[in-house]
Amino acid sequence: MTKMKKLLALLLALTMVFALAACSSGSTEDTAEAEDSSGSTEDSSFTTATEGVLTMATNAEFPPYEYYENDAVTGIDAEIAAAIAEKLGLELVIEDMAFDSIVAAVTSGKADMGMAGMTITEERLQSVDFSEPYATGVQVVIVAEDSAITSVDDLFEGGYTIGVQSSTTGDLYATWDLEDTGLCTVERFNRGADAVAALTSGKIDCVIIDNEPAKAFAEANEGLVILDTAYTEEEYAICFSKDNTALSEAVNEALVELMEDGTVQSIIDKYISAD
Ligand code: GLN
Repeated sequence: MTKMKKLLALLLALTMVFALAACSSGSTEDTAEAEDSSGSTEDSSFTTATEGVLTMATNAEFPPYEYYENDAVTGIDAEIAAAIAEKLGLELVIEDMAFDSIVAAVTSGKADMGMAGMTITEERLQSVDFSEPYATGVQVVIVAEDSAITSVDDLFEGGYTIGVQSSTTGDLYATWDLEDTGLCTVERFNRGADAVAALTSGKIDCVIIDNEPAKAFAEANEGLVILDTAYTEEEYAICFSKDNTALSEAVNEALVELMEDGTVQSIIDKYISAD
């Protein structure tokens, strides 16, 4: 509950930051346009890691947000990023890496933004800026059909081994609530799919992970179910370096336009059926 309140307070603060950014970027844009003698109508006041390119860091192990189809990274995030790049007149390049390398890729300036179903958290806000949230995520618990764990509360009885993807919010919550308190053991995996494989083979008792990949994993693996009670709810956003606010404002503005005109929702609906 307190975590939820903290998150809400955070979101409120964030909304205010972007409300301010929206006001000030209006005038920046005017200046940029007034000064633009090249005849280009694009807002050319931002710079990217590679000229003309928007580089997105992701971890393509997170269906339906980002995953491989043939040799290309596809999914909700990939499509939203492509629409943003198009609006900004940039070519989108997606770089696939470990989830816990994304923030470093962004802060070092190697990537222009990180987009990976990434939850806004206080810890991440210490090192990166976030866009407006564009989707909701829910941390859920996957168990074997015949598991003794039938609700989130059961986990707090203790004695279980919980699988998570390393450095994700599922990892954070399991660590804080269940491992640091001495109740359960947490096993960290590089990929969510590896955690699920460990669950299937009976090495661990459950997996805490985001709901949409959880659905995909439960569908692909016989004998697994998702508990009805959710662990917690959170917001996904794009992360940026704190040092390139001209770029983060331009990307955020494009994202907001794409949310307002329904593009983001139609991309989400394409991958996630309402149920
Ligand atoms: N939403 C979770 C997080 O931000 C998981 C993201 C992911 O695994 N790609 O930590």
